[in-house]
This record gives sequence, structure tokens and C-alpha cells, in this order.
Amino acid sequence: MTETLHIIGGGMAGSEAAWQAANMGVNVVIHEMRPKVETFAHRTGHLAEMVCSNSFRSDDDEQNAVGLLHWEMRAANGLIMAMADKHRLPAGGALAVDRDPFAESVTEALTAHPNISVEYDEITELPEDGQWIIATGPLTSAGLGAAIQAETGADALAFFDAIAPIVYAESINMDVAWLQSRYDKGDTEEERKAYLNCPMTYEQYEAFIDALETADKTEFHEGETAGYFDGCLPIEVMAERGRDTLRFGPMKPVGLTNAHDPDNKPYAVVQLRRDNALGTLYNIVGFQTKMKYGAQTEVLRMIPGLEDASFARLGGIHRNTFINSPTLLDNQMRLKSKPHIRFAGQITGVEGYVESAAMGLLAGRLAAAEILGTPMETAPANSAMGALVHHITGGAEAKTFQPMNVNFGLFHPVEGFKGGRRGRKDRYKAYTDRAKIDWQDWLNAQS
Ligand SMILES: Cc1cc2nc3c(=O)[nH]c(=O)nc-3n(C[C@H](O)[C@H](O)[C@H](O)COP(=O)(O)OP(=O)(O)OC[C@H]3O[C@@H](n4cnc5c(N)ncnc54)[C@H](O)[C@@H]3O)c2cc1C
Repeated sequence: MTETLHIIGGGMAGSEAAWQAANMGVNVVIHEMRPKVETFAHRTGHLAEMVCSNSFRSDDDEQNAVGLLHWEMRAANGLIMAMADKHRLPAGGALAVDRDPFAESVTEALTAHPNISVEYDEITELPEDGQWIIATGPLTSAGLGAAIQAETGADALAFFDAIAPIVYAESINMDVAWLQSRYDKGDTEEERKAYLNCPMTYEQYEAFIDALETADKTEFHEGETAGYFDGCLPIEVMAERGRDTLRFGPMKPVGLTNAHDPDNKPYAVVQLRRDNALGTLYNIVGFQTKMKYGAQTEVLRMIPGLEDASFARLGGIHRNTFINSPTLLDNQMRLKSKPHIRFAGQITGVEGYVESAAMGLLAGRLAAAEILGTPMETAPANSAMGALVHHITGGAEAKTFQPMNVNFGLFHPVEGFKGGRRGRKDRYKAYTDRAKIDWQDWLNAQS
């Protein structure tokens, strides 16, 4: 009998870790506190619940680092990617997912696996022995958070993300809004019309920025002093950084033609993306916000097409928990002071569903290999998986460590390619070609 692998947290990372280890023949117990203990963001008791956006971002595995991570996880028989593909929604070049059936399918696949059992309990202490993975995510319960802090001695950092509001499709004025993906991207008509666009004139944009600046916001709690993560800035904070920041960010009007008025180029465009298979819900892309609810509805209804919008969910703020991985973890993702414990997912300081699941995939394989007595090298540095794990377990500056999305900036340069924007296409292709070969070699070495 081999040793059992215990995984605390059945989110994106814990679910993928369990799947990988179980498929290698190791018995796995997932300890998940929901639905007994809830978090403010999860709504269900399902494993792998998507708490906010329904997007896995770009699915382009040649020109985009997160698309490459999709590719690597698919090549490794990843459960999260398989179920995301199964419940894919049209979203241009992005991989959007029908969240409830997705989480249900992950839960079903894990509970049906002969090597996996799920115990619905909160763990509040660090285990003294056995083989463990902690994958409790950005909303790690307070008890376990305190235990981790007591062990590591390092401050668990906290910062604010923000939830983007969701609008009922029927309440959107289609005499003003129109359906189109940016640059008409997508292979099918459905893909090319995956986004709903709301145009703004100069005057409307200026009035909107004024309203954002003066709207009532939720205040930071005492002690919550860490900065925002730049990839997830609330719109009002972007607006504070400059009146044009939004027009060059989530509200950029490029690649779009107003179907109701093709000769007039909008000054700014708000995009909404389908949030469920039925097409009844749309989320406002990039509109994370910490405006108070009353102010939020008022300001968002200034957007042409959303004058009468009804909101299925308003935006909100939330906390994130992550450890200082560069100082605490080795490249096998083990806690240096207690090597029988690995960390995986967002708590390691990666950011996003895909990155978290990826770190689960890796931790699950590494733990299973150790249990089976056939330890393996960590992911190759030139793969997307490797670029991430090498960043968090040593590549990043420990003193200023902040959560990281996968991006080509984490990759070693490929010789012989021009820097800058002009050489970008060839350079990215070279990164992804190289990564795929190295990743496949790493997988082959295990089979
Ligand atoms: C409000 C909010 C909005 C977000 N929006 C986005 C977004 O739009 N896009 C995106 O890519 N990412 C988003 N994130 C980040 C997202 O949560 C992560 O990318 C991803 O879910 C992390 O995966 P994970 O497995 O590390 O953690 P999770 O998916 O959160 O899973 C952790 C699991 O551990 C469980 N758990 C916690 N403590 C314990 C304990 N002590 N004992 C047992 N179980 C425990 C939790 O119930 C949970 O099921 C958001 C996070 C929050 C909090």
C-alpha cells in the first residue's frame, strides 16, 4: 500500500492535483470545507467553483502564454481543461466556460474516481506527518491561515481584487448595443458575435469618468494596506490614474464598428461577455469595482444600452491570501521547513483560475511521484508551467513578491529573435514551439 495524499481545498488547484495523483495510482483524500463552511465568494458546494469571471482567457497556444498553459494542461490530461472544453461558451479567441455545469462535471469526475475520496471538513492545523498539499486559495479559512503564519513566520499578504458586475441580457437595449468580437475574431458566426458592445461619445465618456471619480466607494478595512494587483484594478482606480486610462484599457474602441451607426467611430466602448450557456447573463468585461452598490447601479446605468440594466450580481471587493513562495518553497513546491507539505494554487502567489489549476497539476504529479518512490524533476523552465513555478519558487524578488499571471516575460529569451513589438509574433511563436517540445519531453519521461 502506498501512502495516501491528502489535499486541503478542492478548488481549481486541489481538484487538478487530486486528478493527476489519482491517475498515477495514488490514493487521494480531498478535504474541502464547503458547503459546511462558506466563503463570501463561493455560492455552491461544488469542487472547482469559478468565483467571478467565467473566462480562462486566451486560448491561443501560439501567441499567448495562458493559451500555451491551456495546451500544456491538455497534453497532461488535465481535468480542469477537459471540463472547460466540454462546457465552453462562445467568446471570440477566449475560452469562456459555463460555470455551473463545469464545476458539477469536475465534482462528478473526482467523486467517481476509484482512487479519490472527498471529506467535507475544514482543516485548521498544519499536519505533522503524511503527504499533504495545501490548496486553499485566496480565501483560505482564518484558522488554517493562522496555522500557516505560525509556521512560516512570514506575513501572509493581502490585497484587493474586485468582482465585475453581471447584467441580465433581456435588460440591455439592443437598439444601442450590438454584438461583435473585437476584430471579428472567431471561426464561427457565434464566436465573431460573442461580445455585446455599448458605445460612448466623448461627452458620455467624460460624464462617466466624472461619475466614477465622485461615486461612493467601499473603504479599505484597517490593516488591509497592501496594494492592488495591477491586472485586476477597479475601474474607478484606473480612472483616477488618468482620464484616458479606461479608453486605452477595458473601454478601448478599437476593432469594433457600431452596427447601428457604422460611419461614426465611438470614443469608447464598454464590452459585455456572455456569462452562461443560455445567454441570459452578461458580465461587464474588466469592470471590477469597489463602488458601493447604490452608486454602482447609478453609474453603470450611464452606459448607453444599460440605461435600464438589471444586475444579477453587482461588483465587489475581496481579499487574497498568498505566501512568500520564493523564500518558503523549494522547486518541488514543498515547504522547506516541513517538506511533507506542498502548496499549490493561488496561495503560492500565482493569479487566476488557469495558473492555479496549473500549479495543482504540477504539485499533484510531484507529490505522487515522491509517494511512489520515483521522484521527478520539476517542470522544465522553458515551458509555461516551468516558467511559472520557477518564478514563484525563486525567480521572483522575495521582498516585493506579488501574485503573478503567466506571461512571456517569465520565459528565457530565444536567441536570434528581434526584441520589441515588431519581432513579437515570431518571438512568441518561438517561445511556444520550444515550450511544447520541452513539456512533451517532460511528460514522456514520466510515462
Ligand atoms: C472574489 C474573487 C474573485 C476572483 N475572480 C477571479 C477571476 O475573475 N478570474 C480568475 O482567474 N481568478 C479569480 N479569482 C482568483 C481565483 O479564486 C483563483 O484564481 C482560483 O480560484 C484559485 O484556485 P485555488 O484552487 O488556488 O483556490 P480556490 O479555487 O479558491 O479553492 C480553494 C478551496 O479551498 C477551500 N478551503 C479554504 N480553506 C480551507 C480549509 N481550511 N479547509 C478545507 N478547505 C478549505 C475553499 O472552500 C475552496 O474550495 C478570484 C478570487 C476571488 C476571491
